Amino acid sequence: MADLPDKKSAFIDWYLAVVDAANLTDKRYGVKGMNVWTPYGFLARRHLDEVMVREIEATGSSPVEFPALIPANEFAKEKEHIKGFDAQVYWVTKGGLSELDIPLVLRPTSETAMYPIFALWVRSHRDLPLNVYQIVNTFRYETKTTRPFMRVREIHFFEEHTCQVDEAAADQRVRSNLDAFARMAKAFALPYVAVRRPEWDKFPGAAYSIAFDIPVGTGRTLQIGSVHHYRENFSGPYGIRYEDPSGAQKLVHQTTFGLSERLLGAIVAVHGDAKGAVFPTAVAPYEVVVVPIPSAGAEPGPESTAREVVERLVRHGRRAHLDAGDERPGAKYYRWELQGVPLRLEIGRREAAARTATAVDRLGRKQTASLAALERDVDRCLEEYDDALYARALAGYRDEFRVVRSLDELKGFAHVAIIPWCGKEECGHAVETTLDGGLLGTPESPLPMELEAPGACLACGSATGARWALAGRPL
Ligand SMILES: [Zn+2]
Repeated sequence: MADLPDKKSAFIDWYLAVVDAANLTDKRYGVKGMNVWTPYGFLARRHLDEVMVREIEATGSSPVEFPALIPANEFAKEKEHIKGFDAQVYWVTKGGLSELDIPLVLRPTSETAMYPIFALWVRSHRDLPLNVYQIVNTFRYETKTTRPFMRVREIHFFEEHTCQVDEAAADQRVRSNLDAFARMAKAFALPYVAVRRPEWDKFPGAAYSIAFDIPVGTGRTLQIGSVHHYRENFSGPYGIRYEDPSGAQKLVHQTTFGLSERLLGAIVAVHGDAKGAVFPTAVAPYEVVVVPIPSAGAEPGPESTAREVVERLVRHGRRAHLDAGDERPGAKYYRWELQGVPLRLEIGRREAAARTATAVDRLGRKQTASLAALERDVDRCLEEYDDALYARALAGYRDEFRVVRSLDELKGFAHVAIIPWCGKEECGHAVETTLDGGLLGTPESPLPMELEAPGACLACGSATGARWALAGRPL
């Protein structure tokens, strides 16, 4: 079995090799950027979705599902939006043999599918807030190099759309989404920074956009999601109005919150190591794999003990998997490590006789679990494992950031740069050109270090309005 490429020096090669070796997706489908979810990858995706659903529903959002096709005339109503997506949409222009009267867009995102209907649903202030979400596939004609989970043409997409009474209520919804994402990210053991995008990089049609960026090494960042405040930019063109308590007609203020399968890419990228993928327990297709070590001898033997262990763990609500195949135990350990299973229980003749199991987590820590207290011991092992995984990710995250005070230092810079920036677009572009990257924006969540006053803008030297901003090379 071949070694994986080195993560630090050949990150993309390493990433692609891990995704393949862990059997998360099959790239051999006949359309570039549209990949097949394998049984193992599908389970990881399902558990990701479960975390999102749990956290968003806890904030009062309800599931809906809108059609995948959007009439071109509805799609074109918000001008910034259409401009932003024009070059990226798939068109359906024929139905059978006839040209369609009104061509259809395969949704790149669902604002323009939902909002004509929201205009029918929202009548009175009593219909507000309207908070709905869907998890569907969206389509974008991606022209850059595609990569599994990170840049694809058919995207497994979570999108929340809301209507609020006014701007302040919509601001509050944005805050609530940021809090919900913080809880999701904790479940995925992913440290991230929330960043307010600069004007020139916000979502098409948004008043402002806050994105979640994850550093993935040597200054590269992965945007894994975003929250947008639309003010009345969509409710105007789509006529989403309500009658307030005094009888006046008002436009709603809207927000959206989007996340995608990139989260799975981030989990592979951040937690993975020289041995392959590493899953946090919440997302792992199998939380525990039980491997009996065959041996001739007295009953109960390792295999019947392993069966008992799996049955008990499944009854306890754990995703436990019995690997009783005829490979050597060493080959099984190697494969489950490659596939990122959090905890392995090894049961040989000695363990079976002593009513124990040797528990080895994916970070290589070994302890003995007692069958008398199996459920409690496994719960404890997984809890300790998740804590250790988060601590390891956090240490790596902290090490990604550096303060930079001059443009010169940004040439070939291999960290995420924290820079003093006056807020002017030309200074932002100077940063982007020098770094050959992006000005990500201004942080909305705490940075991993104490910072003094920003001082003068690193591009123009002006101290007026200078604030801390982040710059990196988005993947
Ligand atoms: Zn400046």
